[in-house]
Amino acid sequence: MNSKRGDAGVVALIAGLTAAIVGIFLNVKISASEPTCLYHAEAQVVRQDTSILPISENGEENYGVSNANQLAADPKVPAGPFGRFDDNGNQINEYYENLSMFTFHHDNLALAEEEKNKTISVNLLGLNSNKWKIVGQFCESLRRDKVGCPDNLDQNNTDVKIDGFKKSCEVHIKYGWVVAPKNNDTEKCYFDTDSCKPKNPQISFSGNNRVRVEWENPASCLNLTQLKDKIQIDIKNTSNDIICSKNVDVSNNDTGTDCKLGRDIIRNTQRPEELQNGEYTTLVRVANESGSCISPDATNKANYIVVPPPTDIPPTNTPIPEKCERVGQYCSDDYTEDCTTEDSKPGKKQCHKEGRCNDIGDLTKCGWDDQRSSCGACIPNEGENDPPPDPTGLCQTIIGTGKNRVLLIPYNFPSSDEFATYTTGVIDNLRKTNLGDLYNEFTFVAYNKFFPVWNGQYGCNNDTNFSQDKVVKCDDVEAIRKTFADCNINSAGLVIAKLEGKYSFAAAAQVASIGYKYTVSAPHELGHAIARLGDEYSFKQSTTEQSGKPNCSSASSCPWSGECIAVCGYTNWKRPSQKSPMNLNANWSREFNNPSLNAWRLALNGGGGRLMNALQRATSNNNYNQSLYLKLRQNQRGELSLENMQIKNAYPIDLEAGLTKDYFSIKMIDSEANVLHSGQFSSKNTVYSEPNPPRQVLREMIELHLPYFDNLASVEIYNPDGQKKLDIDLDEFDLPTPTPRENLCGNGVCDSTLGENQNSCAVDCRPQNDYRNNYKELSSDINQDNRVNILDCSICLQQYKKKSSGLSCDIINDSKIDVLDYTTCLNNLGKSVEHAPEESLDDDPTL
Ligand SMILES: [Zn+2]
Repeated sequence: MNSKRGDAGVVALIAGLTAAIVGIFLNVKISASEPTCLYHAEAQVVRQDTSILPISENGEENYGVSNANQLAADPKVPAGPFGRFDDNGNQINEYYENLSMFTFHHDNLALAEEEKNKTISVNLLGLNSNKWKIVGQFCESLRRDKVGCPDNLDQNNTDVKIDGFKKSCEVHIKYGWVVAPKNNDTEKCYFDTDSCKPKNPQISFSGNNRVRVEWENPASCLNLTQLKDKIQIDIKNTSNDIICSKNVDVSNNDTGTDCKLGRDIIRNTQRPEELQNGEYTTLVRVANESGSCISPDATNKANYIVVPPPTDIPPTNTPIPEKCERVGQYCSDDYTEDCTTEDSKPGKKQCHKEGRCNDIGDLTKCGWDDQRSSCGACIPNEGENDPPPDPTGLCQTIIGTGKNRVLLIPYNFPSSDEFATYTTGVIDNLRKTNLGDLYNEFTFVAYNKFFPVWNGQYGCNNDTNFSQDKVVKCDDVEAIRKTFADCNINSAGLVIAKLEGKYSFAAAAQVASIGYKYTVSAPHELGHAIARLGDEYSFKQSTTEQSGKPNCSSASSCPWSGECIAVCGYTNWKRPSQKSPMNLNANWSREFNNPSLNAWRLALNGGGGRLMNALQRATSNNNYNQSLYLKLRQNQRGELSLENMQIKNAYPIDLEAGLTKDYFSIKMIDSEANVLHSGQFSSKNTVYSEPNPPRQVLREMIELHLPYFDNLASVEIYNPDGQKKLDIDLDEFDLPTPTPRENLCGNGVCDSTLGENQNSCAVDCRPQNDYRNNYKELSSDINQDNRVNILDCSICLQQYKKKSSGLSCDIINDSKIDVLDYTTCLNNLGKSVEHAPEESLDDDPTL
């Protein structure tokens, strides 16, 4: 028990009083030689809320205090009656009016030397024991001196006697008894009913460790008297200790109060001065004036949160939390803001902020700590100033800037919208392999013609071939190669056929096809078409042929470092690894073995000399976007005849090199017998009809798109034995030269040697179309959970500034992870994406 209430006022009021009487505590022997003392003691009877009990509430005569000596002299009449103030022996009656309080004050008390430091007890007399019981004692010094109170006072002592007061000078104390109403209080308690419970208690916190409590008075509570009855407020902490308490009058004009820790401490069981993190409960009740009758408690709770110090910084490699879970939580956020570049172009800048959660919610609630937050430079938006995409452009670059252009050809798709999903599936599946840096050697192009525009002039020659088998039999190589000439394709074409229940199939070099739900087998089929890999699963038959496949060995000793495992297609051939994309089902994986990777590298880097890049070749040829088209017929004996020859406004298709059998070689010669261009082409197509062994099928019709030279004089074609099979003298033909394309811009091919660039032809030279947007969206779902969220973009942060291929966040495919990838991911935040459905390989034995 402790209170400083009122003591300042008491001291002030007694200051002018000078008369002296004998004090109640001490037997004083006045002597001129004795030094005089200040002595001040206040005796009180208080209720548990520390309010001083009104004398009328006690209702007894002879109510007051006497010390041991006085009690011995008169056990019934107190020497210090309550309600009085004795100042220097001059009693002032009723000064305290109705309060159970007696104060003895003396400025010049003479205290005999032998009395000093002796102890004495004080008794309470006249307490109405029918109404009140003593529940405790208290004594506190009102000055710093802290002299006079008993040592080790038992605050729970219920005796009428307080023992151990010290006789001394400079005593300034308050002491007394705490009383509570007796249980057998005969007064009826009208408040002990739910109708008297205060309504809607609210608890909140403010500075200076104040707890604000508001409530509504119970209008239905009969007998409740304003400005007489009380509202009792208690604040409890999580340990259920009362840490602040207060009583206020019931008043409909004032239904709220602050309880300040360390100050409002009427019923406190704990006395903290500071609010701590945690949940606090307020209890609000109605009580009568004496506190002997109370209503049930109305309660409510609230959390108090102390903002943590700024040293609580999460490690940088921790994933960013997706939300602010509590106010004050340390948070960091990486986000992108719109901005304007120095030359006034719209752009985006990436910002990193750290701070504290201002509220519960997403990371927009994260505050900004100047010391730790900043934004990067404003980067102009990609394609912001480009013209809109040209939907009529035949070739739409999806992604990539590599020199190996791969054409994705729709079959039976109605529109680019749907086709885009599957082009993305193909590219993603290729990227998921271990091609690594080689992935960046690709440029993926979508062919922009759709059913029913399809008229047999591109892709597969007709659809009757699809009806028989489970495989997509798109083996009209010549038709597909025509589309290559449209789009300057030098690497391969992949037909994606929207046909239910169809698997994949590769027909000959450079041309592959898959059922649209089998984009997962795109690496396998392109492995055939580009790297000329063999199947590593078993055809269940042997062969007398030598392999010739980079990943299959027919040799007696293993030709590559590492192991040779039985069966590579043919049962007498061997493969380099147990599992491979070129294998099936249980032996399928995304990792090409080393011989396969070497073959990919040779093909894509041109190291094998097989393919030349038309754009590279164009440095010595102004007509690179025109081609000499030859249509040859081959009979079963390998004789060639010319069916058609034209100069076309089409891109030439590379000849091959390094073929050792089933080929023709070709020379393009000027009038001075200089070879302008040479190469090989196959006399047979390798037709894969999986899971059967590939077959060599004679090319009865061969269509070549050769480069065109103004000074070309003749074309000579030889068989492998060096026999001339065809000699075409251009002088004998009257070839109409087509009008050069006035404007190549818009065909989807960036004709850089003709001056097309991002400025002169943004449509062709800066990929920006449905396919690309779709690709970016799907690629932003890095963890493939069909939703682009911060988990995806945080992967980008982990890879940020890394330079390598095969990084999952390289959304814009430039072999490095930078702000453009990250902002692409952020731009797609919240989007639901649908990845191309893929049938399980295990269920489908055919690749
Ligand atoms: Zn295959």
